[in-house]
This record gives sequence, C-alpha cells and structure tokens, in this order.
Amino acid sequence: MMKRRRDAILYRERVMPTDLDELQYLARKWGADNVTVMETSRVILDPRVRFKCMIPKCYMSGGCSHCPPNGYSLEEIRGKVASHAWAVFFRVKVPPSIIAAKGLGADIAKGVMDPAGNLMNLGAHYMLTFSIVRLLQKTARRMGYAADGVFAAGNCRDALCHFQPNCRHMATGKCRHPGLSAPSMESCGMDAFSMGARAGWDVFPIGGTCGPDSVGTGSLMGLVLVGPSRPGSPAEKPGREPLSDGDPVTRPDEDFRGNFQRVVRDLSRNRAAYRQAHVSFRQAPGMARKGKTWARLAKNLHELSGSWMEVLYTLRLILTGRPKKHGGPA
Ligand code: SF4
Repeated sequence: MMKRRRDAILYRERVMPTDLDELQYLARKWGADNVTVMETSRVILDPRVRFKCMIPKCYMSGGCSHCPPNGYSLEEIRGKVASHAWAVFFRVKVPPSIIAAKGLGADIAKGVMDPAGNLMNLGAHYMLTFSIVRLLQKTARRMGYAADGVFAAGNCRDALCHFQPNCRHMATGKCRHPGLSAPSMESCGMDAFSMGARAGWDVFPIGGTCGPDSVGTGSLMGLVLVGPSRPGSPAEKPGREPLSDGDPVTRPDEDFRGNFQRVVRDLSRNRAAYRQAHVSFRQAPGMARKGKTWARLAKNLHELSGSWMEVLYTLRLILTGRPKKHGGPA
C-alpha cells in the first residue's frame, strides 16, 4: 500500500521524476503495454479531434455525458492541462484479431455481441484502460499530487453501461460508475494518435474496412494529468469514491411479496437485455482466450476499491441491465 508523501512536491525538477518513474512502473504492472511521461505542454489539443466525434456523427455522439457535444469544452480542457505539470500517457494494446475482427463495427453499431466473444474481450480492454487511469489518479493523489484530469479511450457507455437503456448521469446527474468512468482523450480534443506516434509507438488507425491482417496492433490510450497539489484540492484529502452505484432492486418500505416480485421482474428484464444483445454461453470460450486480461481487470478493480465484494458488485452492475426500446445504443 502506497503511503501519502509527507513532502508533497514543491520543486518538480528535483523530486518529481522518482514519483513519475514509480507511476510508469505501476501503470505497466496494471496492464499498460507502453507508458511515457511528458510535460503537459506536449499534450496535443486540436479542436478537429473533438469535432470528429460529431461530423460525421458517431453513433455514440451525445449518447453519454462524456461524448461530444456533451462533456468538457476545449477551453475547460486547456485550463485543466495548463494547471498540471506532467502527463502520464499510456497505451493498452488490443490484438488485431479482436479489435479488427470481421463485422465488429456493425455489431458495435447494432449493440449486439458476436458469437466469438470479440466484443466482450474488447470491452475488457476498454475497462482495463478505465481502471488504469483511475489507479494512476488514486496513486498520484496518495503521493500528494493534484491529479484532476483523467482521460481514457472510447466511451464509457459501451464499456460500462452497455446493457442499460440510458446513461444515468445524463438522466439524473448520478453516474452508475463514479469511480471508474472517465472521458476519452479524443472527446476532449486530445490527439492521442499523434501523441502515440511521437512517443514512438506503432499506432494504427482502424476503420470499418480493416481486417486482422491489415492492422499491426490495436491501441487504447489513456492519460492522467499530475501536478503539484493546491490547497483544497482532492490530493489534500484523497477521498474514497465508490466504483459503482447501482439502483436498488428492492425497497425498504415494500413487504416481502412485493420485493420478491421486484427481484423476479428485474431478473426477467436482465434476461431480455441479454437476449437483445445476443449474449449467450457461446461467447464463454472466446472470453476464456483473454482470461489474463479479465483477471488483470479484476485485480485492478480490487486495488481501486480494496474489497472483493465491491469488485463483484461492480462486475454484476456492468453485466446486468434492461432492454433498450429500439435495440442498439440509445
Ligand atoms: S458510466 Fe454510465 S452513467 Fe456514467 S457517464 Fe458513463 S454511460 Fe453515463
């Protein structure tokens, strides 16, 4: 367990590099394939990257509270980046056989799982990326730094709320996964691909016509801003944010029979959501192929929460839901 530093960074040139080395080492341990640290002046912000989510419109544009036109404006991101000194930038590699599998793009747009389990495994890599940015943030804060900007890859709706009919944060202001969700680098106008290429990584853009043989590797990139802590910032008092916050199925004011009916109705809704998303046991062998990734994800969630019960609760909440009215992403 990392201890909070008593001498929070004052002179970044003198002290920070050792802590940044430690964050890089930990990011690798948590599942990142490449990690680098850069001064925040090297974070590439380009309004065209954010516009690309909207023109032509991505199927998820406006579908969750982080996806453009929702989420941080470019001015807000510029302010966040400028208020930190360093950025820990990493990537998680995804095998081409998963990320460029035939027909995957169409399945994603329809919101259905393929029988080979590629989409489930892709989801595990996205969740791994979310868990790494949150672990980096938590650790940097424990060290005594400000870490008020975390950015992952893709959208949290597909990765964390796939079986739910809506983004609860948009509907009620309460996120289902407050300790895991994060905006993507691209939704905030960060040119992750150019930054990855500058870092010397072999990044390949993957379009709908790509196949496993035409792509070297898939890349999910994440970034965490780190800087000297300011009075009153969360680094002063690193809080304990729950990974997930589900809607209760039973009600305390309802009798046993009423609550039993609620549980049965909830189970049948979950079954309907699975049917709609084509989830079946046929995906299990494919998921077992990436057993190490799923195990790493579970360990990361445990390191974030400190409780296996919370890990189980989080995975259950990610894997359950209700059917959407029109099928596909709402
Ligand atoms: S995790 Fe779910 S509820 Fe939270 S912002 Fe993402 S889609 Fe919305």
